Amino acid sequence: MFKDKTVIVTGAASGIGQAIAVEFASLGANIALCYHSRTPETTLALCEEKGAKTLAVQGDVSDFNFAKEFTKKVKDEFGTIDVLVNNAGITNDMLLVMMKEEEFDNVITTNLKGTFNMVKHVASFMVKKRTGAIINIASVVGITGNAGQANYAASKAGVIGLTKSAAKELAARGITCNAVAPGFIETSMTEILTDDQKAEIFKNVPIKRGGQPEEVAKAVSFLASQSYITGQVLNVDGGMVM
Ligand code: NAP
Repeated sequence: MFKDKTVIVTGAASGIGQAIAVEFASLGANIALCYHSRTPETTLALCEEKGAKTLAVQGDVSDFNFAKEFTKKVKDEFGTIDVLVNNAGITNDMLLVMMKEEEFDNVITTNLKGTFNMVKHVASFMVKKRTGAIINIASVVGITGNAGQANYAASKAGVIGLTKSAAKELAARGITCNAVAPGFIETSMTEILTDDQKAEIFKNVPIKRGGQPEEVAKAVSFLASQSYITGQVLNVDGGMVM
């Protein structure tokens, strides 16, 4: 389905980003990824095992110029960009009244501005080709809010607003833009929680377990393969929010 297509995945050294890169590689795509501090050797090896050509660039998606340069490198290397997956994200949890200004700013800058930076530069290229798919990784807490995550929930609500606005602007140019909103997924982002905390969360998950990164990756490749779905938020959350 994605043979000879180029897929960009941000923050693909670990967790959900790694699973998304491997999913698209297994569907025939070439993979361009960016990584931050963790190195992407495992992701690259898994993608190359599937036959993908790969490009990995180290950098920070919240840096406007990095996003521009990364996009240019992908164009120069592969000649095309067909799918963009904005996956890079961080948490920095704290109760609102105790949250420091920089704790708010860092999360908004990485999660929301980072998504804007990549959408802006990649969409500028896609509009010339009049085709493309953009999938932004949001979160169910961007829909519901969450105590202790005012910064993160605001950033992901922002990602959803950005997704819908981009979908409206880009639809006439043949580009779709959707969001995937995971619930509790078992990655390094959630492994800091104790078993008791996890058990408490699973009480509100009808499927009664955490999700796997691969289950999110399947939803992303589904959306990337659709031509008449845009501006939507697809929850991958075991039924947590419905
Ligand atoms: P993860 O393993 O920590 O993955 C996040 C990735 O983003 C890491 O590889 C990280 O690299 C990278 N990253 C962070 N800041 C970056 C920056 N400024 N520039 C480039 N890359 C950056 O956690 P995950 O669970 O897979 O999270 C992936 C996405 O899913 C995030 O957007 C997260 O908000 C979202 N999500 C996760 C869950 C969940 O339950 N796990 C639920 C809802 C949504 P470094 O570690 O090297 O900095």
